[in-house]
Amino acid sequence: MNPSASQPEMTDPNEDLIARVIRPVVRGWQSYHVPSAEGMVKLDAMENPYLLPAELRVELGRRLAELELNRYPVPSYTALKASICRHLGVPAGYDVLLGNGSDELITLLSTACALPGRAVLAPEPGFVMYGISARSAGLDYVGVPLRADLSLDMPAMLAAMEEHKPVITWLGYPNNPTGTLYEAADVLRIVEAAAPYGLVVVDEAYQPFAAATLMAELSRFNNLVLMRTVSKLGLAGIRLGYLSAAPALLRELDKVRPPYNVNVLTEAAALFVLEHVDVLEAQAARLRVARTTLAQQMADLPGVQVFPSAANFILIRVPDADKVFAALLERKVLVKNAGRMHILLQNCLRITVSTDEENAVLLAALKAALHAL
Ligand SMILES: *Cc1c(COP(=O)(O)O)cnc(C)c1O
Repeated sequence: MNPSASQPEMTDPNEDLIARVIRPVVRGWQSYHVPSAEGMVKLDAMENPYLLPAELRVELGRRLAELELNRYPVPSYTALKASICRHLGVPAGYDVLLGNGSDELITLLSTACALPGRAVLAPEPGFVMYGISARSAGLDYVGVPLRADLSLDMPAMLAAMEEHKPVITWLGYPNNPTGTLYEAADVLRIVEAAAPYGLVVVDEAYQPFAAATLMAELSRFNNLVLMRTVSKLGLAGIRLGYLSAAPALLRELDKVRPPYNVNVLTEAAALFVLEHVDVLEAQAARLRVARTTLAQQMADLPGVQVFPSAANFILIRVPDADKVFAALLERKVLVKNAGRMHILLQNCLRITVSTDEENAVLLAALKAALHAL
């Protein structure tokens, strides 16, 4: 580049290094952005707003104090897996694979199935990690738009599957960011269609808020994978996800799992909290009631369209989502500006259902924001 050898080298050595070693496609990406929520009413990430009761937290502290942090976890995680199966409704004869959040399980599935030229498929808008992990693993990603009412476009789904033969089809049940619970018959139709060439992962991250699960269908389909997490149930901070599937498939997926992927603090905390899972289930029940109330209150506001939700968040459409989002921020309420995520979500906001107090703050701020439009 430089015509004169006597002039100093102008290229940035770091840029040179990056260009040599990092995959070109990766260099074009952005890191996953999480906005600061300091001082905010935080309604952007589907967290359970409730803590564990004080006496349970004290007891949990005692349990954690007894751990030997100098030792690696025992990578079979036998007791924790048994507790998850017992308390969270995994059918007899089925085991689980554990992940550092279901985000890691999504990565493990992509890694185990990736070959150049293979594709994965998901309805869109859907959970962003399906696409991110596919592309990281070198898989092609095919998004199939939902219909305008955010239901599955079955003819389009089946046609795209026929064309691309996706090695994994991802279905949020219910879906994020829409809150839609697809028809169970449609989901099972997709599992059947995929059987000759791929897995269907039914992602039940929001199962505590949906009166529905396809866990019982595992025995009917050896290409069905049921994935869940304890994050939305109230344990987002410990990072623990699990999936269940035919034992032969679990054995293969386990080969790409880092052996110590669930740390001893998470393991002990989950074991303890699962003994008291009724506490979390009662919190989820309160949030389901609050969801109905908040959905009605928002639907009563002029200019607001509320989409039905089976999750712990509500998707709404407003006349100008950018302006409403900014006005909410000014009032220290952080929601997700979903309008930026997909063309079908134009002018949509995704709002986590929270405590009665926080929902009231949101509602007042939303009213003011709409009034100022
Ligand atoms: C939140 C969410 C997850 C991620 O769960 P973690 O266990 O916290 O990694 C997975 N799938 C969907 C659809 C989600 O909304």
